Amino acid sequence: MSAKRDYYEVLGVERQASEAEIKKAYRQKAIKFHPDKNPDDATAAEKFREATEAYEVLKDPQKRARYDQYGHMPEGGGFGGGGFEGVNVDLNDALESFLRNFGMGGFGDMFGGGGGGGGGRRRGRDLQVEIKVTLQEAAKGAQKKVKLAKQVPCPDCEGSGAAAGSRPQTCSQCRGQGRVRQVRQSLLGQMVTEGVCPQCQGRGSVVQDPCRSCRGTGTIRGEETLSVKVPAGVTTGNYMELQGKGDSGGQGVPAGNLRVVFNVIEDRVFQRHGDDLLIDLPVSPVDLMLGTRINVPTLDGKVSLKIPAGTQSHKVFRMRGKGVPHVNRPGTGDQLVRVLAWTPDRLDKGLKARLEEIREELAKLVPEPGAHLFD
Ligand SMILES: [Zn+2]
Ligand SMILES: [Zn+2]
Repeated sequence: MSAKRDYYEVLGVERQASEAEIKKAYRQKAIKFHPDKNPDDATAAEKFREATEAYEVLKDPQKRARYDQYGHMPEGGGFGGGGFEGVNVDLNDALESFLRNFGMGGFGDMFGGGGGGGGGRRRGRDLQVEIKVTLQEAAKGAQKKVKLAKQVPCPDCEGSGAAAGSRPQTCSQCRGQGRVRQVRQSLLGQMVTEGVCPQCQGRGSVVQDPCRSCRGTGTIRGEETLSVKVPAGVTTGNYMELQGKGDSGGQGVPAGNLRVVFNVIEDRVFQRHGDDLLIDLPVSPVDLMLGTRINVPTLDGKVSLKIPAGTQSHKVFRMRGKGVPHVNRPGTGDQLVRVLAWTPDRLDKGLKARLEEIREELAKLVPEPGAHLFD
């Protein structure tokens, strides 16, 4: 597949174009290049498809914002959430999306013909499921099982919708094509409209003797347990689209898609900031004065951190590469360690007496208010 053209260029609009301008530009292109207006013209069909894909992205403020920020993803980079998830629209999707956006009525008016069938399903319902993962699982990647209530193929008719001993018959209206074309004469010449077959709703076949378990739909309520690979580095809100894992569509209709959304549970020890982790480390004031080594928890276990003599409270140390891996590009975040001078709320007499001895000497060393301690 060749590289994609810029979506704004495809529609011929400015990057700041309003939603109304984008819609208008798409409508003009779509009508001009619609396959029914340009029969057997592959270039026009591709232009129609390309314009529809561009519109599907730019009409959605969230998708548009991500596209503005990230542009087209490289081939094969389909992971969503953090960046722009590549959108691929084929010609059939484009035809359907055109109808969805403008309706059969508008389409018929433009072409001088009336509408054919209504919307009609072309695949099973899309589903969405949330998966909770711990910070550890998000950082290292994991394999999670998720149980999903959904429409599954009816076991009694094996999804055909036809009662035992019978079979679905090829639809007489569309002869199994699932779509019907209507040709009519108008002042502008021959006009063709196409839509989902009203008799079979696009299935291409009709059931004469319906299966009793599924009432002829070919699907029943059921559940499926899926094993989902959590990519290392996911953040709450990241998601994956699993093709064909949504509701079963029944006879002749592909299943919908499943969107798996990740929800990373907050960790008690580590605060996540993007792909960096922050941990607070209480330290005795004397250790800050004299310097020391402390074992600090990381996602890979404890790691020794050197605290130099004369470290101020609240200083942040950076442990490189000890954070969370970037999900869409190579590399890993850092772990930030904030040392905090910790003060005991009670002291025994002996310790108190010894501190009293050094109190004045130390007080003399404290800088003026407003001193810049971290410059
Ligand atoms: Zn059945
Ligand atoms: Zn039909």
